[in-house]
Amino acid sequence: MISIKGDITVWNEDIREVKEVLIEGDDMELEGRFILTPSFVNAHTHLPMILLRGIVEARNFWDWLREIQEIESLMRRKEIRAGYTLGIYENILMGNTRIYSMYKKYWLVEDTLGTTLHLGPVSQEESDKDVISLLERFMKRKPSDVEPTLYAHSLYTIPKERFLEMRELRLPLQVHVSETKEEVLRVKEMYGDYPVRVLHRWGLLRDNTMLVHAGWITKGELDLISMEGGSLVHTPVSNHKLATHGFFPWKEALERSIPVYIGTDSPVTNDGQSIRDDIRFALLSARDRYWDAEPFHIDIIDRVFDDGWAVWEPLYPIRERGKHLINTFIFAPHLFRLKLLVKNGNILYPRKYPQLSHAFRVWERFRDRII
Ligand SMILES: [Zn+2]
Repeated sequence: MISIKGDITVWNEDIREVKEVLIEGDDMELEGRFILTPSFVNAHTHLPMILLRGIVEARNFWDWLREIQEIESLMRRKEIRAGYTLGIYENILMGNTRIYSMYKKYWLVEDTLGTTLHLGPVSQEESDKDVISLLERFMKRKPSDVEPTLYAHSLYTIPKERFLEMRELRLPLQVHVSETKEEVLRVKEMYGDYPVRVLHRWGLLRDNTMLVHAGWITKGELDLISMEGGSLVHTPVSNHKLATHGFFPWKEALERSIPVYIGTDSPVTNDGQSIRDDIRFALLSARDRYWDAEPFHIDIIDRVFDDGWAVWEPLYPIRERGKHLINTFIFAPHLFRLKLLVKNGNILYPRKYPQLSHAFRVWERFRDRII
């Protein structure tokens, strides 16, 4: 059992102060002043891209995409494998225990480091021609904490036939949708309609479809999502960094009861993998853009929680208590550090991961090779 004693503020359905909390897990005792929160879901990232962080900067989207894909094509299998390990570890450090990662060669993941990973074919690469048999083979030997998820890069890069194949698998699907204005125009040119409507026409608008970015979608498309199913994944920092952000329709999504998740997107377009930072940024950006603070209270962000526990320690004796302390935690996340992360009774942090030192060496050699 993990015993946490002291002045503890718990963020679960209600907020209260308690003196001792017990969490199932290895024997451990903590004493002090802490915030206890559920662990976080990073609803969209591209884990191995951690190796590319900082390499292509201050570019507009299309130039960025071209340059980053050129460098990415130089990544070898062992480098992608190391990128998965390092990317997962960085998510753990941020308190994230469930990660949706859209990236090729998902079968190279050897260990989830205790997190739950949503992995599966990314329908963008030649080697995925035989998507179904590859996925079946992976499912037989996958690490235990992997949940199969299909990923489609976008409507303008993946042929219609591939989308129809994915529909038949009936697995959760993530697709980049309406990230840029140009993308919407391109899809209209290709299929004569807006992206969400095209997905609906193909039978892919359903509850387990997650539409990532959605910065250029219409109210009509939102009505369709609320009727047919689907959720949005907001990636505020990434959209701002690449200057692609049209207007994420958070208020309109809330009005239609459309679930909204938060994703960091890749460590290149976000740099960090902190969902807490993204929540803060999303709330501030929404208040600023709508000129309205009221709908964007921290209560609306319940979709970001997983089933683990994270214990956070203030960096100094902050005086706020209860809900005021939670508010400070969300709007000033850098004032709190992760003390403990637990999922399924296992301590994910602090913990020694022997595979890390090898992965860091591979990363270093990769940087030396390409820069
Ligand atoms: Zn993405």
